[in-house]
Amino acid sequence: GSQEVDRKVDSVCPFCGVGCLLTYNVKDEVIVSVDGRDGPANHDRLCVKGRFGFDYAHHPQRLTKPLIRKAGVPKDADAIGDPADWSSVFREATWEEALELAGGKLRQLRDTHGHKTLAGFGSAKGSNEEAYLFQKLVRTGFGSNNVDHCTRLCHASSVAALLEGVGSGAVSNQVGDVENAGLILVIGSNPTANHPVAATWMKNAAKRGTKIVLADPRVTDIGRYAWRTLQFRPDTDVALLNAMIHTVIDEGLVDADFLTRRASNYEALKANVQGYSAEAMAPICGIPAETIREVAREFATSKGSMILWGMGVSQHVHGTDNARCLIALVSVTGQIGKPGSGLHPLRGQNNVQGASDAGLIPMMLPNYQRVDDPGVHAWFENFWETPLDDKPGYTVVEIMHKALAPDSDPHKIRGMYIMGENPAMSDPDLNHARHALASLDHLVVQDIFMTETAWYADVVLPASAWPEKTGTVTNTDRMIQMGRRALNPPGDAKPDLWIIQQIAARMGLPWNYQGPECGVAEVYEEMRQAMSAVIEGVTWERIEREQSVTYPCLSEDDPGQPTVFIDAFATNDGRVKLVPADIIPADERPDTEYPFVLITGRQLEHWHTGSMTRRASVLDAIEPIATASMNGGDLRKLGLDAGDVITVKSRRGEVALTVRRDDGTPTGAVFIPFAYYEAAANLLTNAALDPFGKIPEFKYCAVDVRPG
Ligand code: SF4
Repeated sequence: GSQEVDRKVDSVCPFCGVGCLLTYNVKDEVIVSVDGRDGPANHDRLCVKGRFGFDYAHHPQRLTKPLIRKAGVPKDADAIGDPADWSSVFREATWEEALELAGGKLRQLRDTHGHKTLAGFGSAKGSNEEAYLFQKLVRTGFGSNNVDHCTRLCHASSVAALLEGVGSGAVSNQVGDVENAGLILVIGSNPTANHPVAATWMKNAAKRGTKIVLADPRVTDIGRYAWRTLQFRPDTDVALLNAMIHTVIDEGLVDADFLTRRASNYEALKANVQGYSAEAMAPICGIPAETIREVAREFATSKGSMILWGMGVSQHVHGTDNARCLIALVSVTGQIGKPGSGLHPLRGQNNVQGASDAGLIPMMLPNYQRVDDPGVHAWFENFWETPLDDKPGYTVVEIMHKALAPDSDPHKIRGMYIMGENPAMSDPDLNHARHALASLDHLVVQDIFMTETAWYADVVLPASAWPEKTGTVTNTDRMIQMGRRALNPPGDAKPDLWIIQQIAARMGLPWNYQGPECGVAEVYEEMRQAMSAVIEGVTWERIEREQSVTYPCLSEDDPGQPTVFIDAFATNDGRVKLVPADIIPADERPDTEYPFVLITGRQLEHWHTGSMTRRASVLDAIEPIATASMNGGDLRKLGLDAGDVITVKSRRGEVALTVRRDDGTPTGAVFIPFAYYEAAANLLTNAALDPFGKIPEFKYCAVDVRPG
């Protein structure tokens, strides 16, 4: 950052949930470099995405004008074309024409077919203010709770278990607290790739003697720092975790005082794990019984044991059960409610915590207040001065199913507004999802690029990249942090907050937010009222002044609570509720026709569906092509060398891509990142859902692998 620049603008990284604070260096209206700032989550550090992933904002494929589908151009499931040339399908339009069409048609569908026939997907990439306003638009303008976002694909199962068990879906302890832990259990997470700066705190702790236990079917980089690595068989999480709980009970290592004073339902948990001894589970999960016992003992007796987990835990049909086991493990050992312990579901997107907090989910209003709770319902009807639906709406995958429902279904989804999400890449079983998108009577897509999803749109609204607007985001540590506008949007592109308000006006809503940056501070302050139980003390002015404020924070002089559940859990009776879990197999197991297990995920350089990072020149240069990873033994068996092209096929689709040797990938499995449109991993994945979190099973389905 030593070069001459016109201005330096303090903001926050737009990629992962770690929430690194950074500074944009701007010269001649172009971001020329990014520096790390001394934020509480990063202390000047940035990973390769934060440091080099910025020039997507200046990419020539940015959308700069509203687009309208040309008359007579049909929608079909194979509609996706070259994002640099959309002119055979769309024509440019003025904002007035595009907004009249976008909002007018949504309004017409609502008035003709009823409130249940519209749905909205917001985004965990947008600000808290955008998330809040988007869900308010759907609830008060569309008239139903059919609003969701990619949390459904991410930690929905973890949140379901946490709300049930401890009464709050957020983390109990912050990442930096690993420095106070004696043991860190990293399970179903590849932090070096997906939360890189958070991973540095874990590695630093290991260097000072903290024991890292990596439990994952796929051994990743953090394994190099691990005291013990438990490479359990894919899909055997519950077996392994129940065996650890069994060991703690069997060897008399329970924290009896904690269980008596602070937990409920312990007897049921204890009875349930009877059949799950380490010896009985060892052959199922592929870990020696003595190793399971050794790790369980260390977990129970260390000065503090902290669990950090990712999608490897959550993205299963038993994702909620997996998280229930984690809650039970910290509870039987008393490893929660104190520094260096507790539960930390590592949040993926930069604002998935905040977007969920703000109510961008179909069963809950802001701050996880249930839509079907009569008191909550009445409060929000009064607050928003509008009648509200008191039935939970549909979730992401359910909305796609409902788009394909017969005409006679009064809940058939006919119109959608999608802001900053890319379900034509991120949903499971993409052929089905794309077919659903193509079947909509009316689709409005708001984004910065011609995403795969935008090809199914009737109207495409050009929005702002993160450095082009001001707003707050909430990281994995419950820190609310401020992003500031460093650039103006290109051409006629507009801030998302402005576009949402324009659509609201066309739906007949009488909103009138005032002030600079599209009234962002006023929107925030309204949201703060709706969430006063946790963020009463976090005013807009305070975030501006302090850069980062941790909640719960109940008054202006409350410094915020980095560790929660010290005295009581957030449940009604103040106790953690223990919920027994039994083994439920994956929805689709390998067989002779599809003998391999597909595991999808991410890689360090590319973010989710790739729309931003693959247009960031440095990141694209480091990882330019789609790859699959398999271990050396499997490559030999198939007669393959690293660098060969393979075809991976499931019952739902197939992709061709280059194979890479990775001996951390277990025998019998293939790992594919989902960021590559030319080999979209989600063409293969299974849309089977966890019954509680409604999350799809991205981490397990059956595939065949062939050379060529
Ligand atoms: Fe951005 Fe996450 Fe990297 Fe930090 S760790 S720079 S928040 S992507």
